[in-house]
Amino acid sequence: MKRIALLAIASVLFASCGQNKNSNQQNDNSDQHFDSYKNSFIEKLWKVYPVWAASQGYHNYDSILIVPSEASRALENEFAKANLDSLKSYDLQKLSSNNKTDYYLIENQLNELIWNNTSYKSFEWNPSDYNVVSGIAELLNGNYAKLDVRLMGIYGRLKSTPAYYESARKYLKNPTKEHTQLGIEQNLNSVSVLEKDLLDSVKISGLSESVKKEFETSIVNSAKAVRDYAEWLKTMKNDTPRSFHLGKDLFEAKFRFDIQSRFTSEEIYERALKRKDELHAEMARISKSLWKKYMGSEKMPAEDLEITRSVLEKIALQHVKADSFQVTIERQIPVLVDFIKKKNLIFIDSTKPLVIRKEPAYMAGVAGASINAPGPYDKNGNTYYNVGSLSGWAPDRAESYLREYNNYILQILCIHEAIPGHYTQLVYSNQSPSLIKSLFGNGAMVEGWAVYTERMMIESGYGNNEPEMWLMYYKWHLRTVCNTILDYSVHALGMEKEDAMKLLTSEAFQQKAEAEGKWRRVSLTQVQLCSYFTGFTEIYDFREELKKKMGDQFNLKAFHEKFLSYGSAPVKYIRELMLQDKPGVQ
Ligand code: ZN
Ligand code: ZN
Repeated sequence: MKRIALLAIASVLFASCGQNKNSNQQNDNSDQHFDSYKNSFIEKLWKVYPVWAASQGYHNYDSILIVPSEASRALENEFAKANLDSLKSYDLQKLSSNNKTDYYLIENQLNELIWNNTSYKSFEWNPSDYNVVSGIAELLNGNYAKLDVRLMGIYGRLKSTPAYYESARKYLKNPTKEHTQLGIEQNLNSVSVLEKDLLDSVKISGLSESVKKEFETSIVNSAKAVRDYAEWLKTMKNDTPRSFHLGKDLFEAKFRFDIQSRFTSEEIYERALKRKDELHAEMARISKSLWKKYMGSEKMPAEDLEITRSVLEKIALQHVKADSFQVTIERQIPVLVDFIKKKNLIFIDSTKPLVIRKEPAYMAGVAGASINAPGPYDKNGNTYYNVGSLSGWAPDRAESYLREYNNYILQILCIHEAIPGHYTQLVYSNQSPSLIKSLFGNGAMVEGWAVYTERMMIESGYGNNEPEMWLMYYKWHLRTVCNTILDYSVHALGMEKEDAMKLLTSEAFQQKAEAEGKWRRVSLTQVQLCSYFTGFTEIYDFREELKKKMGDQFNLKAFHEKFLSYGSAPVKYIRELMLQDKPGVQ
């Protein structure tokens, strides 16, 4: 009922949007004004957040490390309020689609910034918020300037490092045990970057002897500040630590800012619960039909979940050998491209091929595959598909991994990461370049698209509708669904570890090690685990809504291309704009 009401309100809004658009015939230069506003906004943003700027490839303020304080947060809030005011002077209806969505993203970012400082306040309870070394490592390993230049940026930051950690101690109050542990680990693990990597680089640099000497003293002082901080965390008196369960209100607020969905977190949680039941039923149906083929004369268990588990485990034995893992992934890409062309699913620009590479040394150990996109200030950089190698893995670990990424799942992984998932989305979003979207792009749209394409490909007949492919797809999808259930249950409903492990191992068919990893992730993060299923649900719902509306006029290829043309904007805004623009009609 609630959802239907929401839809009704939404369509009234769209109707009025459409009218405004038609009456706006005089072509003023609102977009030009807004473009220059965006530029000056980003310049000012970087002044307030110099370390963030450097991580995005903007290097004018490399040497500045802001010591967190009430004053620094007041400055951030002022910046946000001033820009929220500036935004009000623009008439949204006069802006292009690209600028409209940029407007919404900026507005959301500014509101979230204020909310972080006034409600979320992780600076009081998350000791891992404080870490200077990760930013320094980025400068040290960067290739945007010569070593001596990069070192001078680092030198400036080291000067403020002792005061920075001093401040951290002042503001932390009863931090959670989990984030305290993380803060200790991350700070201690990274101190060798200062004492070894940085020190070595200073020695071979072209800096003068006197600067080198002072630099080395700064390194010693900074390393001491990092160690002292970790030591202080280890021994701090904390009899009433804060719970890592975020609580319902904060979770919902964070969901609103991070996901920017037209649904609440509770609505998405309800959807996920329902979806889990549907998937279980469907998986049991397929597993029963495959029982004889895989289990022979073995007696079928009474429990549906057990039947499904047995069949899944048998099918997972079909996997590649460790030494052909990489080459299998490489061969997969042209197969996907051919299928998409044959089925007319989306235009794939052959002038922007995906560069497949062996994962670079610094990423080693993270097997599987991932996409590496160039930063917003490095538009001409290559996009890489990093494919991990299993060489050097213990046989047990490799076997378990290969069963997880069996012949079926490996194909779904390539769909998600590469084509037509993340990589294809990236190519489209680069066609309407927006620095704002590179910086504040909507993670739920990006992940939702990748998850949507898995489903769309299988629906279109990829894998020849083999029951094994569907079953494995459902298992993979169930992980996404259960991530949402887990996140909401733990943070909004107070679920504890025992029940969480039960959900993941018996209802989502995960191995114990995977479930343990997921538990750690959900105790340290909030909301991010919901992004995949929320984005997927919104895209899938929207497609079905349009299909109904447009009947014979609906064209899947046109829908995909139009949808991606808006860049990494929240799905709810893309939907709004597409409903105005009569999507899919070419
Ligand atoms: Zn095997
Ligand atoms: Zn992804």
